Amino acid sequence: MRLVLLGPPGSGKGTQGARISARHGIPAISTGQLFDRQIAAGTDLGRRAERYVRAGELVPDEIVLDMVAERLDGSVDCAVGFLLDGFPRTYPQAEALDRMLAASCGPLDAVIDLDVDIDEVLDRIRRRAHTEDRVDDGDDTARRRLKVFAEETAPLRRYYRRSGLLRTVDGAGTPDEVAARIERVLADTAHPELHLPG
Ligand code: AMP
Repeated sequence: MRLVLLGPPGSGKGTQGARISARHGIPAISTGQLFDRQIAAGTDLGRRAERYVRAGELVPDEIVLDMVAERLDGSVDCAVGFLLDGFPRTYPQAEALDRMLAASCGPLDAVIDLDVDIDEVLDRIRRRAHTEDRVDDGDDTARRRLKVFAEETAPLRRYYRRSGLLRTVDGAGTPDEVAARIERVLADTAHPELHLPG
């Protein structure tokens, strides 16, 4: 299965990504996590990305695309598949991903769009700020990240709706509830004939 997980910061992408990964035995590739690691390790890439991540801005497409191309090239087994968490986030990234996959594994199977209320999301980000060591969870930065999502990433819903890949899932409720909704959607994607009405 080749999946993308789309959703605003704080929508539970990380939690759900880890669950999908464990349940289906596919690697979850989180660009946010890759940047965190590069920053912590003080690599050249980390240094180039750090100020954007700290400010809650998107890292420029060319930096992101280099990193993703390397990850997808080097360690993805097409037969197993993958789940992308936090990528793509812009139109150019989505188009580049389509090109990369056309030249390698083949197209995506589904884009899971976690739909959550913005106030709920701000609350979650505030709570998480106390429990996780992230460089970008200050209140202003969290608001900035949400605004960037609305402006740059939310339009990707249209892109994936057009290609018939978008599966919007209600992201409200407990992680178990959301995971169960995602599993239903994935079952439908794999075997649509089993779920025809009537
Ligand atoms: P995340 O953990 O997915 O919310 O990502 C944390 C931060 O990493 C974002 O606020 C961006 O600064 C950066 N980042 C992660 N993925 C991308 C991406 N696909 N494009 C641009 N910036 C990204």
